[in-house]
Amino acid sequence: MMVDKNYVLVTGGAGFIGSHTVVELIENGMVPVIVDDFRNSNTKMLEGIQKIVGSEVLFHNVDIGNKEGLSLIFGQYNFSGIIHFAADKAVGESVSLPLKYYKNNLGGLINCLECALEFSVDNFIFSSSCTVYGDPDGSTTVTEITPQKEPNSPYGATKQMGERILEDVVKSGAALKVLNLRYFNPIGAHESGNIGELPIGKPNNLLPYVTQTAAGVLEKLTVFGKDYDTPDGTCIRDYIHVVDLAKAHVSGLKWIGNQTGTTVEIVNVGTGKGTSVLEIIHTFEKVSGKQLNWEFGERREGDVEQIFADVTKAKHLIDWEAQKSMENAVIDAWNWEQNLRND
Ligand code: UDP
Repeated sequence: MMVDKNYVLVTGGAGFIGSHTVVELIENGMVPVIVDDFRNSNTKMLEGIQKIVGSEVLFHNVDIGNKEGLSLIFGQYNFSGIIHFAADKAVGESVSLPLKYYKNNLGGLINCLECALEFSVDNFIFSSSCTVYGDPDGSTTVTEITPQKEPNSPYGATKQMGERILEDVVKSGAALKVLNLRYFNPIGAHESGNIGELPIGKPNNLLPYVTQTAAGVLEKLTVFGKDYDTPDGTCIRDYIHVVDLAKAHVSGLKWIGNQTGTTVEIVNVGTGKGTSVLEIIHTFEKVSGKQLNWEFGERREGDVEQIFADVTKAKHLIDWEAQKSMENAVIDAWNWEQNLRND
């Protein structure tokens, strides 16, 4: 058993948020161990991480649905903590393939938790999502205690249930400290251009759709709806730079490591600012100097009109707040897209 270093298990560490978090962990003296089966990622991300940090990263090509494989990894390292990203994340797909989502997202979480308890790893960060709020009525700013609505999709349900499972395990008296991080809309890429978002197939999310359209991979962006009750009629989200989001995990691990006894906390990770779809397009055109081919289309089913985070708790509890601007994020995403196309 290797015990001399501060090993942190990062499931899904080759993914979009995972890879950026791995970089931040290394830059803060920790030793991430990536477990990823690359079903929704690419070994290119490992190369990108290694280019940034200048050293090899530890990784295991294992499906977290494989409990035995996961146990072997827990037996190999003395983990100080776990950051659990690995999950399926396409909202639309989850509606047509609900069992895939319940099986992978909940089964994977349960395997990680069983291993955590078996191997006495008590610091656990769970990737949750603002989707757990559903369509909030009344205020558009949500705090961690804003009542949750019925989830809009099986994907959303797995995030609500994931939080519930963790809460129940802590309530049962298990030696576990849990931090649920509810992500808002992560965008951008590492400023080096070595890692970023790698959507497989047609992207579902706005920013990769914008950059792929500008790069000529896709023909035209459709803006879903123009008659929402917002200043310009398009939906509003809280877009957060993925590097800021990655840093929230480092702050979270530091905080949770200092807690004694069992605990379960929830923290929103966003900027606290709302941005409309049209504002994103205009920012992109400004920073890239390119005109984007786009048109208005119908509303997309299940879209929330506007939502953004109240970020007070993140500042107070884990001493973290977003630093980077929307412009930074769009520049970095565009830089990454151009690097991808040059490869
Ligand atoms: N959006 C859009 N066209 C697209 C993709 C997204 O107009 O091709 C809009 C979408 O309706 C929403 C916003 O962009 O208002 C963010 O969508 P995304 O899927 O990135 O995030 P989510 O809806 O899950 O917050």
